[in-house]
Amino acid sequence: MFKIIKQSKKGQARLGKLKTAHGEIQTPFFLPIATKGAIKNVSPVEIKEIGAEIILANTYHLYLQPGYRLIKTAGGLHKFINWNGPILTDSGGFQVFSLGGGREGVGGEEGQRGGWRKNLVRVSDEGVEFKSYIDGSKHFLTPELAIEIQRIFGSDIMMILDQCLGWPCTKTEATEAMKRTLRWAERSKKYEVERMNYELRKDKPLIFGIVQGSIYKDLRIKCAKELVKMDFDGYAIGGLAVGEPRQKMFQVLDYTIPLLPKDKPRYLMGVGRPEEIVEAVKRGIDMFDCVIPTREARHGRIYLYQRGLRRISTRIKADKFYMVINITNSSFRNDFKILDPNCDCPVCKGGYSRAYLHHLFKIGEGLGLRLASLHNLRFYLRLMELIRNNCA
Ligand SMILES: [Zn+2]
Repeated sequence: MFKIIKQSKKGQARLGKLKTAHGEIQTPFFLPIATKGAIKNVSPVEIKEIGAEIILANTYHLYLQPGYRLIKTAGGLHKFINWNGPILTDSGGFQVFSLGGGREGVGGEEGQRGGWRKNLVRVSDEGVEFKSYIDGSKHFLTPELAIEIQRIFGSDIMMILDQCLGWPCTKTEATEAMKRTLRWAERSKKYEVERMNYELRKDKPLIFGIVQGSIYKDLRIKCAKELVKMDFDGYAIGGLAVGEPRQKMFQVLDYTIPLLPKDKPRYLMGVGRPEEIVEAVKRGIDMFDCVIPTREARHGRIYLYQRGLRRISTRIKADKFYMVINITNSSFRNDFKILDPNCDCPVCKGGYSRAYLHHLFKIGEGLGLRLASLHNLRFYLRLMELIRNNCA
């Protein structure tokens, strides 16, 4: 299932291969986000061409629209969205808690951080009640239902339902959410084991536990230890990059990762900026997802590699290897240089200039969003390739 190919001699970074029902993925890797079953502005063929081996779909959004019955009728999520590679699905926990009772339109954004509306979501040990952002209808999500939906989707990697908090939160709140996450993890695991016992399918999905506990060391430690006892196929660290200072996030990683088994994949959810990914790989993280490349692209923010690209390594300080430009800035109006001369994406290799992208954004042309999204996604996927090539 997960095999370490190479372990860094100078740090905790490792190279590996993760086997799923829809193919093998090289680790560490980045998951482009197909929120509602589509990577915004980019087709499955294109995402494969620029090096993606796996994508992430949001259970919450797909459960509300088009609904799991339709996806079941379509023959599963892979068939429905026409992607035959591996798919990781989240449990919906993050969206329920962050967007749960959302105002109209809010839920349409890719899992955005902040804006936690606790009052519009009712959580109990049984599960979580929330209102649809589409039509206001009430729904009740339990740990068992979250697994069942992901099963129906045909997910390759399923995430357990967890209670995710924003930041800041009190220790009492964090304790309660962590304990509930553990109880839900136990129920999810039990449900999945029972499900497998009578199914005897060969293409068993992987199931991952999620470590919660906010920025409180004792809570993170307890949660990690208890989850490891339950023996999941992989472990995610959740509840980070929700507004806490970056240093706090790294502290959490520093004391949580050593508690996770070496021979299982580790997933840092919702992170992050390129330099955060490099730092987390050094600490032994294998999987990442983040809305940054696509969301920033839609706002005209383009990620460019700086000179010295070859020096990107998990061994060096990685905060100066890239820059972000805003293509809508008037300084690009007459800039006929290639978007990023150091980039190998179809946009840059295809010869598109900064002036043309500036023009496309100015006239509100969809092609601009598409080209910018493709480029930024390639930036992230290439970052992972560079990290893998430099793991020493
Ligand atoms: Zn490019």
